[in-house]
Order: sequence, then structure tokens, then C-alpha cells
Amino acid sequence: MFDLIIIGAGPAGITAAYEAKQAGLSYLCIEKGLLGNTVYYYPVGLTVFSTTNELEIIPGELKPAREKPTREELLSYYVRFVLEHELNIHTEEMVTTVEKPVDHFEVITNKGKYEASNVLFAIGAMDHPRKLNVPGEDLPKVHDMFRETYSWVKKRALIVGGGNSAGEAALFLAEEGADTTLAVFRSDWENEDPKQGCIKYWVKQPLQDELKKHCLKLFFLGKVIEIRDDDIVLENEAGESEILPNDVVFVLIGSDADLTMLKSLGARTEHGKAGEVPVYNTETFETNIKGIYVAGHFTHQRHIKGAIDAAKSLIPTVAKKLRRGETAAK
Ligand SMILES: Cc1cc2nc3c(=O)[nH]c(=O)nc-3n(C[C@H](O)[C@H](O)[C@H](O)COP(=O)(O)OP(=O)(O)OC[C@H]3O[C@@H](n4cnc5c(N)ncnc54)[C@H](O)[C@@H]3O)c2cc1C
Repeated sequence: MFDLIIIGAGPAGITAAYEAKQAGLSYLCIEKGLLGNTVYYYPVGLTVFSTTNELEIIPGELKPAREKPTREELLSYYVRFVLEHELNIHTEEMVTTVEKPVDHFEVITNKGKYEASNVLFAIGAMDHPRKLNVPGEDLPKVHDMFRETYSWVKKRALIVGGGNSAGEAALFLAEEGADTTLAVFRSDWENEDPKQGCIKYWVKQPLQDELKKHCLKLFFLGKVIEIRDDDIVLENEAGESEILPNDVVFVLIGSDADLTMLKSLGARTEHGKAGEVPVYNTETFETNIKGIYVAGHFTHQRHIKGAIDAAKSLIPTVAKKLRRGETAAK
């Protein structure tokens, strides 16, 4: 019986594992992919938008070559952190069910079954990429993730989306010689409010430069009508349909967490600005199900700093309850 099982080894889960070890708890962290899986899937060579103090688990340890780390530097930091602190993390093991028989939890994975007094969901929000729900979206040339540019040099690439990920992908592609079109709602392109998820100014500025150099085209979107083998049918903002020749499409319009396991335990959810989120106590991070905690990207904390801070502040609560002999049933 573990004191704590942590589901997910992103920044939230890794921090929680470290803090649990420091607090002397028996713990296990289970990750379905690789350590820092979400960061692993960032575009190759991306410079992240956060500064080091917003990404570090222990201040002063992340030392990028420039002001902000690249994907590779950040990933290497989290991986080294896990190895150096000998954190108990199983990778490539997926949690499929969490059950609560009576006074504890059973965590079932594709490889085994574990028991715990408390469970922390640190599952991120990458499980369900949002879809356009249009004909042709299942063609092999349509991607819901952008990894790297070189396969698309001299290809006709269309990116659909109005947030930073779409902006970054368009920039990578335009800069490296793809025939790039960003299909974006005018309101998103003109949005300059970081709280409303605008394209960051250090991405927007070079995008403007690419536009001036004619290496990038903007398409102010009404909607996507259909994706076909050699082209794509779009409706412009005036409601007219246009056909663009096309080789590859990136649909980068956000993603949602998989809340199925939490909901089947009876955890309540609500609709926040960025979609459905679990209901939880913002000081203890406990849900309405005693012993079930949440932290990170699928809560109201969308960024790494919030994920790390949440994990740091919830472990002392778990430890205190364990000392008082509280279990999931009491
Ligand atoms: C391209 C890109 C760039 C970004 N840049 C920044 C940035 O500069 N700064 C910033 O603050 N944020 C950035 N973000 C957002 C950032 O990645 C998230 O805020 C961060 O990853 C949240 O950490 P987390 O631990 O909550 O979730 P995640 O890092 O998503 O970790 C959750 C983990 O849970 C695992 N998991 C899920 N379900 C299961 C299951 N059933 N069983 C086992 N494991 C499971 C997943 O595989 C994943 O590894 C960026 C996001 C993207 C996509």
C-alpha cells in the first residue's frame, strides 16, 4: 500500500514525486509515455516562452545557453532531475482505472495493480487534441501536432489555429522554406492579450516579418469546409469558399484532458475558460473525493510554474493527513 500514487510524470508529477520522497512518503509515479512526455512532444528546437525560474523544481539548477531554454535543455533538466534524485517513476505504463473499494484506492494499469491511500492526478491536458470535425480530417496528411520542419520544405503547408502553438508552427515552417499559410480567425490574429491566449509578441513579430518577405500567407478564416488529397476547401471571413492547393495540414486548436477516470470516481467538474476542469480546493488541491488530488495543466493552472507550485504545496497536506491517520474513507 503506497501513501501516494501519482499519475503522470510531467513537471507536476515529477515535482510531486520529489516532494513525496523528501517528506518520507511511500510513493509511486506512473507515466504512460516518457519522462516529461508533453515537453518531449514540443517541436524540436523550440525555445520555450517561460524563464528558468518558472520551470525549475529547485531554483538555480536549469542553466540554458541563452536566456530561455530550448525544448532539449528543458527535457534534459527534468530527466536528469528524476535520475539524480532516484525518483520512483515507472514509464511507459498507462493507468487505465482507479477504483475505491472501501478505505483505499486501487490503481490499475496495463502492467499491474497497485494500492494507495491517496492518488494525485497530474495527467496534463494533451489527451484529446481538438478536432475540426470536417470531412477529410482523417487523411494521413492531417496532423494534430507539429514536431519539426524538414519534411515539409517546399511543400504547401496549412496551419489552422490562432494560439501560440499554431503561430510557432507557422513560423518554423515559413522560416525553413515551406510554402506556408496560417488559417486564423481575424479576432485571434488581432488578439494581443496574453490572458486570452494570444500569439506571443516574440512569435508574432517574426511572423509579421515573414509576411513582409512573402514567405508566409495569412488566410482569415470563416471555417474549414473539407480537406482533400491535394487541396483544402476553406470559407473566408466574408463567407465565400476558396480552394487552396495543399500537401499537409496542421490542426493546432488546443487539446483537452481525459477526465474519465476522475469522473468515474465521482469527482465533480466545472466549465472553466479553457474547457472542463475538475472542482478542487484551491489550497489543498483535493477534489470532492477524499484522498484524490489534482495538479497541473488540466486544472486552472495552465503553465509549468503553476503545475510545480501546486505539487509543492499539496504534498505537505497529504503528509499531514497521513500522520493524523486519515484515509480515503475517514
Ligand atoms: C508546444 C508547447 C510549448 C509550451 N511552452 C510552455 C512554456 O514555455 N511555459 C509553460 O509554462 N508552459 C508551456 N506549455 C504548456 C506546458 O507544457 C504545460 O503547462 C505543462 O506540461 C504542464 O505540466 P503537467 O505536469 O501538468 O502536465 P504534462 O506535462 O502534460 O504531464 C502530464 C503527464 O501525464 C501523463 N499521463 C496522462 N494520462 C496518463 C495515464 N492515464 N497514465 C499514465 N500517465 C498519464 C502524460 O503522458 C504526461 O506525461 C507548452 C505547451 C506546448 C504544447
